[in-house]
Amino acid sequence: MTWDMEGKPDVSGMEMCDVTGCGKPAERSVSSKLAAKADLKFDESLRRVRVCREHYRKLKKETKELRQLESLGR
Ligand SMILES: [Zn+2]
Repeated sequence: MTWDMEGKPDVSGMEMCDVTGCGKPAERSVSSKLAAKADLKFDESLRRVRVCREHYRKLKKETKELRQLESLGR
């Protein structure tokens, strides 16, 4: 990892999780619509939300449950 003039890590080439307060390396990106369904906190101006492994797992779990609810007809 290279460091810039201010002594902060250079993360320009690095994708970070967009979930508020997370900051882990992102593994996937999902639509903001989907992320909102999973009750994740993120910048609402984003169209694509990058998520780390942990948050992606949560997302998958939450949306699976949502899909099951939807398939029940309500
Ligand atoms: Zn995360």
